[in-house]
Amino acid sequence: MTDVVVVGGGVAGLVAARDLAKGGAHVVLVEASDVLGGMIRRHTVAGLDLDMGADSFATRNDAVGRLAIELGLGNEVTTPDPRGAWLMTRDGRTFPIPQTGLLGIPGSPMAADVLAVVGQRAALRAQMDSLLPSPVGSKATSLGAMVRTRMGAQVLDDLVVPIVAGVHSTHPDRLDPDRVAPGLRAAMLREGSLARAVLALRARATAGSAVQGIRGGIVRLVDELVADMETYHVDVRMGARATAVEQHAVDVVTADGGAERLVAEHVLSSTSDPDRTTPAARTGIELVTLVVDRPELDAAPRGTGMLVHPDATGVRAKAITHSTVKWPWLAEAAEGRHVLRLSYAVPAADDDAARVGTSRPVDPADPTGRRATDDATALLGVPVTPASVVGAASVRWQGPDTTAAGLADGVVGIGEASAGRGLAGIVASSRAAAERILDS
Ligand SMILES: Cc1cc2nc3c(=O)[nH]c(=O)nc-3n(C[C@H](O)[C@H](O)[C@H](O)COP(=O)(O)OP(=O)(O)OC[C@H]3O[C@@H](n4cnc5c(N)ncnc54)[C@H](O)[C@@H]3O)c2cc1C
Repeated sequence: MTDVVVVGGGVAGLVAARDLAKGGAHVVLVEASDVLGGMIRRHTVAGLDLDMGADSFATRNDAVGRLAIELGLGNEVTTPDPRGAWLMTRDGRTFPIPQTGLLGIPGSPMAADVLAVVGQRAALRAQMDSLLPSPVGSKATSLGAMVRTRMGAQVLDDLVVPIVAGVHSTHPDRLDPDRVAPGLRAAMLREGSLARAVLALRARATAGSAVQGIRGGIVRLVDELVADMETYHVDVRMGARATAVEQHAVDVVTADGGAERLVAEHVLSSTSDPDRTTPAARTGIELVTLVVDRPELDAAPRGTGMLVHPDATGVRAKAITHSTVKWPWLAEAAEGRHVLRLSYAVPAADDDAARVGTSRPVDPADPTGRRATDDATALLGVPVTPASVVGAASVRWQGPDTTAAGLADGVVGIGEASAGRGLAGIVASSRAAAERILDS
């Protein structure tokens, strides 16, 4: 019998296990794979250590910033280059993303940067939001329905769709606003309009920027969390897959075929129980990283990158991050070379489990490399030829799971399966869960 079993050694499980053990609980952490960190990993491309997945965290709360300070990384927290990212609309037009928005929803519909993208007519329609009674759209079941009702279809299609596709890999009609923009619905009722709600939520962000990163990569959070497993004597079981997760017991099978039942006062799980969760059609994501020797990119032609409307023709990537513009520390490390990261939607059926979370080198002349260099050329307006590529790699990930985790009664849900995609929400909910247990 132990105090707590935590299932899953991704960031959610590591944060919860650390807090619980630091608070005096005896904690067993079970991780199915042979690495800790889950989706937060690093790979090395052309000699550069790079995040394989997440490269930033949202500042809509201070959860990750506070954790970074506690982990000794407070001085390493960094803000992305203020030039910001661009977007490509359905018809292939490109613009800087308007400054005062949230997931593309404009906080100032008549601002010049919004007008430039949607035109006057659509901006006027969006401005009507300020005249509508606040309950209009407040019961919307999707983010798309909320924006369409308050601000019209064009703002939704030109601004929200490409940004949501880049961030959440899906259409706003398939996203629960309470999950992806917590507090937005309540702020709309309180403030009287969607635009004012956006401005209120933005004002709450702890930094001037909507996201921040860590010098050297987000993965440094995981390095420190893993080191703390030893410091606080967490009993970490690697290669241990939970097969049944109940309120006071977790059945585990090990890589060598062994089986064990762990009995605990409390069980926290960052995975959902397949028997209790409606399977959702999840998309896959392929990230192709190119390290490029192309001095014309020094001018940062599209700021920190570009989010592409899913129906835009002529490019297959759904987003590109110009990582060496976004993160000055990386530009320094790259010594004049550029790091570009393109993301692609791939069918989940195409997803071979062994490839998920694994980095593979890419030959710039093969079809994957060609597709990435062609898209980088089209998106950045600078010829990125296979010959200019000094290193390339591809990683597959699963897109976010939009169904709520099903768990046995009494099991405490943490992590992406319960709190949705993104570190800000996950770290906050893991810490709150640990605190509740320590207080009980
Ligand atoms: C390409 C990409 C880019 C992203 N970019 C950002 C970003 O910029 N900012 C941001 O905030 N977020 C971003 N995210 C999301 C963020 O990385 C995740 O939401 C977060 O890392 C999830 O953490 P988690 O601990 O909940 O889950 P995971 O990281 O998935 O960890 C779950 C762990 O549980 C283990 N496990 C699974 N089943 C079992 C079992 N039965 N028994 C035992 N162990 C099990 C897994 O092996 C894994 O280690 C991105 C995600 C991806 C894929």
